[in-house]
Amino acid sequence: MNYDPDNLFAKILEGEIPCNSVYEDEHCMAFRDINPQAPSHILVIPRKGIPQLSQAGEEDKELLGHLILVANKVAQADGLDEGYRVVVNCGEPAGQTVFHLHVHVLGGRALDWPPG
Ligand code: AMP
Repeated sequence: MNYDPDNLFAKILEGEIPCNSVYEDEHCMAFRDINPQAPSHILVIPRKGIPQLSQAGEEDKELLGHLILVANKVAQADGLDEGYRVVVNCGEPAGQTVFHLHVHVLGGRALDWPPG
């Protein structure tokens, strides 16, 4: 294990806390957000315990690309053909509350820009 076992998403990865899973592979898993901000709101998380995007390094290049491609895969599988938004909140001022890197995939309604 390469992450903080007390972290909420680590507990989901370990199966200690249930989730509504939509996808998983050897590098990541994706599940529905418990407090959805859009009709479709999925989180994609790496199995590697990177607390936040600013702590990712060159060695994570492939993994980060993979997470974005999986974000597209789960968006397509959820029928978001017309478009969707991918968000990574990095750090508390940006709204990050769970310190295990995650990619939000949001869609199914019109999304305002700029975000709040
Ligand atoms: P962030 O604010 O970017 O760190 O996003 C954390 C997200 O995790 C929020 O959208 C929460 O609603 C979501 N979340 C918190 N606990 C759970 C859980 N047990 N299962 C699924 N999503 C969760």
